[in-house]
Amino acid sequence: MAPFPQQLLDGYQAFTTQRLPTEQTRYRELSERGQSPEVMVIGCCDSRVSPEVIFDAGPGELFVVRNVANLVPVYQPDSGAHGVSAALEYAVSVLRVKHIVVLGHAQCGGIRAFVNKIKPLSPGDFIGKWMAMFIKPGEVVEQRDRESMEDFTVRIEKAAVFRSLENLLTFPFVRERVQTGEMQLHGAYFGVAEGSLFVLDPVAKEFRSVRELAAE
Ligand SMILES: [Zn+2]
Repeated sequence: MAPFPQQLLDGYQAFTTQRLPTEQTRYRELSERGQSPEVMVIGCCDSRVSPEVIFDAGPGELFVVRNVANLVPVYQPDSGAHGVSAALEYAVSVLRVKHIVVLGHAQCGGIRAFVNKIKPLSPGDFIGKWMAMFIKPGEVVEQRDRESMEDFTVRIEKAAVFRSLENLLTFPFVRERVQTGEMQLHGAYFGVAEGSLFVLDPVAKEFRSVRELAAE
């Protein structure tokens, strides 16, 4: 068997000497009492967009699901096995999280593949099928007149967050807890280059910079 990646062994060494000593009590508590995170984050697999890093979260704080382009499928109780839906069910019905955050981001490879219709986006591949979930039957997603490719991509990256939030509400157990006010849904968008965070204003249906909100 190939040796375990040295980079990971070094990282674990740093974890045991730096982070673990300060968090050991917390890990013990979590081990005895179980986890009870208040926030679920649905993010992208992208290695630059780690929710625990962006939100400076410690162990037990965030229940995280990551997939290509931070997509939530529609509620589909069929014979298939649905990973995101299973995680969602656990977070909502068992852990009873108070918030679900859909975290989109700039330069998303999944979205880029989708807008460029590049390979491997053939009907038989996994990314193509996964990204097709983003589209409603009969819906056409196209670059607008005079819209640059960059603006188009950003628009679709943000649209993916809207679509996931919309799809979350197709799950009866999500809808019910949102309606009773026991749980809230949120959208966010991370700008990789600047490390900037934008949160969705549910009334204006626009993303607003957290730095600007803090300055107001
Ligand atoms: Zn992405």
